[in-house]
Amino acid sequence: MEKDTYRHKGLRRQLSALLKEKGISNPEVLKAIETVPRHLFLNSSFIERAYEDIAFPIGAGQTISRPHTVAFQTELLQLKKGEKVLEIGTGSGYQTSVLLEMGVKVFTIERQKALYDITKTFLPTIGYSAAKFFYGDGYKGLPIFAPFDKIIVTAGAPTIPNDLLNQLKVGGIMVIPLGDKVQTMTLLTKTAEKKFEKVEFGEFKFVPLLEDKEWGA
Ligand code: SAH
Repeated sequence: MEKDTYRHKGLRRQLSALLKEKGISNPEVLKAIETVPRHLFLNSSFIERAYEDIAFPIGAGQTISRPHTVAFQTELLQLKKGEKVLEIGTGSGYQTSVLLEMGVKVFTIERQKALYDITKTFLPTIGYSAAKFFYGDGYKGLPIFAPFDKIIVTAGAPTIPNDLLNQLKVGGIMVIPLGDKVQTMTLLTKTAEKKFEKVEFGEFKFVPLLEDKEWGA
């Protein structure tokens, strides 16, 4: 496997400085970006460009989100150490690792069996062994582990999944990109049972949140 070198650490510091210029201000989020070795999550053909602020294909038609998007969503979650966080769309596990660096408990769901298998095996090999991985449909959440303090959806959802709102604690936050072709980053705060407030941020581009498990070939 590729190593993590001083050169990579230097590139991460530059990336973190760039994200700060782009408006990310939470020092713990910037620290997490400086810590997680993003180059190890990429196919070797993209490895040289791992610390540029761009998305890359990770197989199965999916992408690892841009570092700015990961940092932006993580910042909006307003995480406190020890909180229970549900992530929809494990993908490469990069966002999962950033969440673990923030000191929270992570439950993450992926609907593509191949990605679920790869990432569940890979993350512990680089020291991220605390996440709980689930193969399933993120629209349904994880009722047996609910309620969650925070929920992060890392694929574009056409509408707000009701099951996810139900699995959020009162006072909890869900960050979800909403829309079809482009998505509006949306922060939902659950203010009471069956009540939430919505704040919208800028436009982002995600792969779609799809219904049901992908059974694969
Ligand atoms: N957080 C990931 C982003 C991956 S892209 C990363 O850092 O790499 C979004 C992921 O959401 C894809 O892997 C896709 O397969 C997954 N996905 C799409 N619909 C889903 C659903 N209903 N449930 C769970 N995962 C889903």
